Amino acid sequence: MNVLEEATHKPVERDGRAAAFPTARPRRLRISPQLRAMVRETRLTPENLIYPLFVTHGHAVRGEISSMPGVFQLSPDVLVGEVRSAASLGVPAVLLFGIPEQKDPLGLENFAPDGIVQQAVQAIKNALPEMVVITDVCLCEYTDHGHCGILNVGGSDRPDLHLPEGYVLNDQTLDILAKVAVSHAEAGADIVAPSGMIDGMVSAIRTGLDASGFEQLPILSYSTKYASGFYAPFREAAQGAPKFGDRRSHQMDPANVREALRETALDVAEGADMLMVKPALAYLDVIRAVHEHFPELPLAAYNVSGEYSMVKAASANGWLDEERTVMEILTGIKRAGADLIITYHALDAARWLNS
Ligand SMILES: [Zn+2]
Repeated sequence: MNVLEEATHKPVERDGRAAAFPTARPRRLRISPQLRAMVRETRLTPENLIYPLFVTHGHAVRGEISSMPGVFQLSPDVLVGEVRSAASLGVPAVLLFGIPEQKDPLGLENFAPDGIVQQAVQAIKNALPEMVVITDVCLCEYTDHGHCGILNVGGSDRPDLHLPEGYVLNDQTLDILAKVAVSHAEAGADIVAPSGMIDGMVSAIRTGLDASGFEQLPILSYSTKYASGFYAPFREAAQGAPKFGDRRSHQMDPANVREALRETALDVAEGADMLMVKPALAYLDVIRAVHEHFPELPLAAYNVSGEYSMVKAASANGWLDEERTVMEILTGIKRAGADLIITYHALDAARWLNS
């Protein structure tokens, strides 16, 4: 029996914790801001936040993303200024997504020493060595087809005749993911974050990093990533929408939670240092389940583009109070069990937390 049931079943129990009305009056502890602060169970700080950023080629570029008000594609020089703002507000980490100059079937710029993410990492680490730079490791922003791996294409000449035309080939993709991770590490990244939900990606990247002398570099795995409609604005931001089909053959079905535990267990076994659930809001129960089953590993949750844009749109219309809503959402994600929250609200949230 829980506390509430006990309280309603036993009329008065003066010694017990479950004494009922009129003895029990929870409102006593809500009477002033000071008392409420004393008994607050979940505390959000700027240190819990990771700020995702989109980096593009050029100089002095600050390209607006229409579906994500307040979020921009930034050239490396402008990006450094944005990262400086994050640092001054106490946000310890950024997560980088690159928009390449050219796309091709393999996504060659993804592991080029002068690729856009590599340039951005170097620029940030030169200016702000203490900033934790996390890089997204996937193929979808770099490939001309917009998919997260090498595709099984070519009709009767396709690499695997047993698999459907257009299928994302698993093991062939792993080699590229390892190359990308090593390339990001060589540029100075502090953490690599594989996001493609390719089976074996953590193990392939761990092996690649270790073979290149990066045994100390942690992997933040997108261990549970759902095929979600909430990614729509991100696709404009990162220019990574698939040219055909969707990502349901590698990302998870939104209906599943037991499968999330299986995915997580595999990534833990492969050597993931940190875990993630993405998106956050429609998956708070998944965050809670992963947190409870894998309490030994730090857990991040990605408060994704669609979640951000909904709040921005409603606030712009005067339907929601932006600050209040954002803080409630971020606190809810942390209360569900996330240690870290990747959010486009990071700078605003840090500002509100600091004021
Ligand atoms: Zn991808």
